Amino acid sequence: MRWVHDKCPECGEPPKGTLEVVQGLALLQPAEGGGFEYKGETEMLWASQKTVTCRGRDVLLCENGHEWQSIRAPD
Ligand SMILES: [Zn+2]
Repeated sequence: MRWVHDKCPECGEPPKGTLEVVQGLALLQPAEGGGFEYKGETEMLWASQKTVTCRGRDVLLCENGHEWQSIRAPD
């Protein structure tokens, strides 16, 4: 993969990764007295994982935690 802006604009480091979103299923259990309560565990639904984009640009992060956006470049 390639991006048009493949260096952090703040510190010049290469991207450590892309920002991703993943859905999770917060497990429930029956609560005393009826209803439900959280079990304290979340199953990650990895099939839902997607790169965060903003106006068609991927969101990238460097190892220093800086965030920027770039469109992909042809390989
Ligand atoms: Zn940086």
